[in-house]
Amino acid sequence: MDESSFIFGVDLDGVVGDFYGAMRTIAAEWLDRPIESLTPEVSFGLSEWGLDEYGGYEKLHRFAVTQRGLFRNMEPVRDAPATLRKLSVRGVRIRIITHRLFLKYFHREAIAQTIEWLDAHDIPYWDLCFMKDKGAVGAHVYIDDSPENVESLRAQGCHTIVFSNSTNRAIPKPRADTWEDVERLVLEAYEEWRTGTLGLFGASGYDPGSVRG
Ligand SMILES: [Mg+2]
Repeated sequence: MDESSFIFGVDLDGVVGDFYGAMRTIAAEWLDRPIESLTPEVSFGLSEWGLDEYGGYEKLHRFAVTQRGLFRNMEPVRDAPATLRKLSVRGVRIRIITHRLFLKYFHREAIAQTIEWLDAHDIPYWDLCFMKDKGAVGAHVYIDDSPENVESLRAQGCHTIVFSNSTNRAIPKPRADTWEDVERLVLEAYEEWRTGTLGLFGASGYDPGSVRG
């Protein structure tokens, strides 16, 4: 497998790992509030949980990673590791692209936890990229849950699937509600790539006729 392979660019938090579920548990402890009082219907940045009077999102994030091993301990999203194993066996090159280094000073911890987690759940990958600008990395099809990332990738003409959660309900298709959907959409794109008909899904090259599911 090499750079001529079909490359699947995979976001981790909120797509392969249950980031919001893990953060909810940690936030309940950090805020000393019952977990039921924290709505699971969050938007990007978790403003619904009233973090500002405790120092804001970044303080919670720092606690979660450095004191609770967030990236080592979060549960995988249902079916995600097994589906990635199947796609890898089919010849799809998995390229993980994550923005987990956005806070300074604990990069070693963030990277170490990430690698341990990927190994512990037997998630196959050829490339592991810690990047903010995901479009600069390059992939034939991407999956992400952040509205900003999905919009930015599509605006660059990148074929991007949005993985459903409460942060992205307003984002248009193509969309995967489950990893079964991901498998189908990625294999469809793979087939289109093999036959030379893979269209662009971005704002500049969006072709609704080619979007299924
Ligand atoms: Mg994400």
